[in-house]
Amino acid sequence: MDNAYTKIKRDQKESILNKKEKKLNLLLSLSMSVSLIPVMPVLAEEDAAPAAPTADIFPVPQSIVTDSAEGMSLTGPVDVVVHGTRNEAAVTKTGELLDAQGITWSEKTEAEAAESENAKVILAVDCGEDCQTCTYTPDAEGALDHQQGYVLQTSDDENTKGEVRIVGTDKDGVYYGVMTLRQLFQQAEGGRIAEVTVSDYPDVLYRGYVEGFYGTPWTFQDRTSLFEDTSLYKMNTYVYAPKDDPYHRSSWRELYPEDKAEEIRQLVKTADDNNMIFC
Ligand SMILES: [Zn+2]
Repeated sequence: MDNAYTKIKRDQKESILNKKEKKLNLLLSLSMSVSLIPVMPVLAEEDAAPAAPTADIFPVPQSIVTDSAEGMSLTGPVDVVVHGTRNEAAVTKTGELLDAQGITWSEKTEAEAAESENAKVILAVDCGEDCQTCTYTPDAEGALDHQQGYVLQTSDDENTKGEVRIVGTDKDGVYYGVMTLRQLFQQAEGGRIAEVTVSDYPDVLYRGYVEGFYGTPWTFQDRTSLFEDTSLYKMNTYVYAPKDDPYHRSSWRELYPEDKAEEIRQLVKTADDNNMIFC
């Protein structure tokens, strides 16, 4: 009796243990499959070749020539060099762009940059005749014969740390080159941007907005955002003419009160920072 009873008890115990084991096994296999699911695609991605950086620029430039499939990288520290006339807004935006990528940079004079082997971003305009930097920059579309034109070239062939060269017909052109560079960075893959030569100029010289409607005028913040956001896509003009601003129409003889005048001063400055004409 004792033996039979003990055996039954033992069988029960074993069966309970088996069940526990099975549960544990099930849990383990579940947890393994759960933990494996996110791991496997990561391994698959590591095995695949890195995607090539694209150069889909909007508005579509006159010409883009892709110089390599794998792209190029700008390995910091980067020398930012103003060559010829300075466009303050373009220099500031270049700095912001590099900061956003976590690339260290500093502005260098041409003499300092010539001494250094660092990566370069060169912003060139109006430097004079027969300049090595500007004259020999390929310009497929004759962009540099047009107002607001620019040629942007990204390459790591000669300077293995990378060089971005933007040559403008004028100061505006240099700014638009920087805006194109920004879009290249947005499409970077694994730290590499497209290796390209972009020749571009606008078909329409004044592009932007007339705030000329009836009803509630835009706010200070609306206008600031408008300048900042549309400047990214090479808009360059804003005309201040809200129909329901009394100082613009019925009270046109009166001066703007100081706080309103200060707001407009601020807007003109923001327009300037974004290479935009405030009319
Ligand atoms: Zn030059």
